[in-house]
Amino acid sequence: MPTERSDSDSRKLLRRLRDVLGNKAKGQDRLDQITKLIAGSLGTEVCSIYLFRDPETLELCATEGLKKAAVHQTRMKLGEGLVGRVARNGLPINTADAPSEKGFRYMPETGEELFSAFLGVPIQRVGEKLGVLVVQSKAARAYSEDEIYALEVVAMVLAEMTELGAFAGDGNGMGALHKQPVLFRGETGQEGAAEGRVWLHEPRVVVTNPVADDPLTEIDRIREAVGVLRVSVDDLLSAESLDKDQKQVLEAYRMFAHSRGWLRRMEEDIAQGLSAEAAVEKEQSATRARLEQVPDAYLRERLHDLDDLSNRLLRILTGQGKDTGAEMPDNPVLVARNIGPGELLEYGRKLKGVVLEEGSVGSHAAIVARALAIPMVIHAERITNEALNGNPILVDGDQGVVHLRPEDTVARSFRDKVAMQAKAMERYASLRDLPATTKDGVTISLHMNAGLMADLPSLIGSGAEGVGLFRTELQFLVRNQMPRREELAQLYSRVMEAAQGRPVAFRTLDIGSDKVLPYMKPQDEPNPAMGWRAIRVGLDKPGVLRMQLQALIRASGERPLSIMFPFISEQAEFLEARGHVLREMHREKSLGHVVPKALEIGAMLETPSLAYAPDAFFQLADFISIGGNDLKQFFFAADRENERVRKRYDTLNASFLTFLQFIVARCAASGTKLSFCGEDAGRPIEALAFAAIGMRNLSMRPASIGPVKALLRRVNLAEARAVIDKARSEGAETVRPALMDWLATQGE
Ligand code: PEP
Ligand code: MG
Repeated sequence: MPTERSDSDSRKLLRRLRDVLGNKAKGQDRLDQITKLIAGSLGTEVCSIYLFRDPETLELCATEGLKKAAVHQTRMKLGEGLVGRVARNGLPINTADAPSEKGFRYMPETGEELFSAFLGVPIQRVGEKLGVLVVQSKAARAYSEDEIYALEVVAMVLAEMTELGAFAGDGNGMGALHKQPVLFRGETGQEGAAEGRVWLHEPRVVVTNPVADDPLTEIDRIREAVGVLRVSVDDLLSAESLDKDQKQVLEAYRMFAHSRGWLRRMEEDIAQGLSAEAAVEKEQSATRARLEQVPDAYLRERLHDLDDLSNRLLRILTGQGKDTGAEMPDNPVLVARNIGPGELLEYGRKLKGVVLEEGSVGSHAAIVARALAIPMVIHAERITNEALNGNPILVDGDQGVVHLRPEDTVARSFRDKVAMQAKAMERYASLRDLPATTKDGVTISLHMNAGLMADLPSLIGSGAEGVGLFRTELQFLVRNQMPRREELAQLYSRVMEAAQGRPVAFRTLDIGSDKVLPYMKPQDEPNPAMGWRAIRVGLDKPGVLRMQLQALIRASGERPLSIMFPFISEQAEFLEARGHVLREMHREKSLGHVVPKALEIGAMLETPSLAYAPDAFFQLADFISIGGNDLKQFFFAADRENERVRKRYDTLNASFLTFLQFIVARCAASGTKLSFCGEDAGRPIEALAFAAIGMRNLSMRPASIGPVKALLRRVNLAEARAVIDKARSEGAETVRPALMDWLATQGE
């Protein structure tokens, strides 16, 4: 391999590669021609192409210089041997003495023991790992920086060719990209099943011309596109409504957009023969590979910015904007790396499902998906690389599984499952107007949780008696600035109207922990779940709390009003918060406004401490609502957002149930109304256990009301209580098995 390669050598090679793409040869022939071309042009004894057979396995697909018999026989796992390591890390490996390199795996069928020097570079396209390109030679020498660079440029062209399907089919076992079924195992963001077609939030940019004839034209194109990009970022920055944080992010964007190094690297790629688009992608791939290696969260964010800018630049170059002209299918399943709650709300209920590569159960997008009852799977890694607009897709939100381009058999059994669920829904619908009365005559009030105007139609549809928890923070989370009092008053008033006289418990703003308002300075807290959140923020910065209370009072007019405060940990907090309500009532009255005829002020019990508050607190509170999601995490000291520990402790753990029963007893002693509004209230077995230990009000997502009611109506509550008591007296850790065994003996 000559050490000095001129730009024109490189351009010549790329053009010949492009000619291979243009000829009518079959996939395997093309690969063979290409390895020969590269070896010849670079003057190296071996050139081999390894491509992914499946996401975990690489296969030697063509070689010049190694034994031909090894082609399609030699395979290695991702991370295995030098080739596997190049693929995993997305970074080149260059060594003069491959056999002594750490991780080297000897593959006798290839005859590679003859070759000492090894240079492998990833074939990747914007973070999508496609394979590895390797050159080897007998002489023990390290390849120069120039040679590595030249090979990377070639690999970029191969990546585009692979993406365009140049090597597929032809009985070589390499299926075309984006054609095979793929299963993604992620996590549940929102339960439910959906079948539909992929709708990419950010469609893939297709590059059809990786190689360019005229570098000068390409350099003009890239300079012009970068110019347009710079102006657009500057325009964004000059907008007046920006707050400090948004400005900071955009400043980082501007720094990258104006970075000389970035443009220079892309110009160098072009000089080697790449088109402007391929040059952007080459640098973007390098950024993504670096991104995966960086442990520092701040730096990763900045690299994300650069990634985002590259996408914008590609769109400018190709003219493929967000609006690619593609038509949204009738049954769209949104596929995205991540999405903000506002954007998700814009799509609204027309989405059948949502699949994200990132996100978390507690993310705002997940909260919105839950509020809209759209099945959602998060952490479906690499799905944006695999999915194409219009691909068939099945989303199993219960299992956190996604089938992309499913086989017929998979689709059929999935449909059976959905049909069974639909049948069950019909059965639940027939119970809508019946009470949740148990066989021994105890009636449990079932309410629903809500947070958006869009939830309200479910109130009538689900048969809920009212809204037991209205999470007001969603209105704050989906905006870019603090909503105004009048806006909120209008919204609350519409909520009350839609409730048609049914009670609605408005929970005041519950922010902090994972719910960060885009326009509030983020707190750098070591443990935000136990930090400055919910009522703590409300009491320390009472301006927003007071504004919200005024909006609620004005929205009510004369109608009854029910307000509850989140995360009350001690009596004093409740007294102070309640004082704000009374003062605002007084103020509104003195301004001559009408005020609610009936007012209820309640507290959410989300920390164990409140269960031991003085009697006076229980007497003063008009009602108490158990926020089981938080209460459980603090009872067991197990983070509700941490998948590892979240499921470790059963809600039906005897200690937890006994603790809940203690709260029931305290409320009974003071005559305080009690309800439970955490997610567990919507799980039928849990709901039954809560009812059995004395709770009479449960609030849950609307879809859970049917299943919970159906179960309650078929059991005798006193018997269930006896089962629980017996299990506890026998020292059971959790009463679940006993309850399940007993339920199995009960009729339909
Ligand atoms: C809870 O903690 O159970 C609750 C209902 O509040 P959130 O889930 O909004 O924290
Ligand atoms: Mg809570």
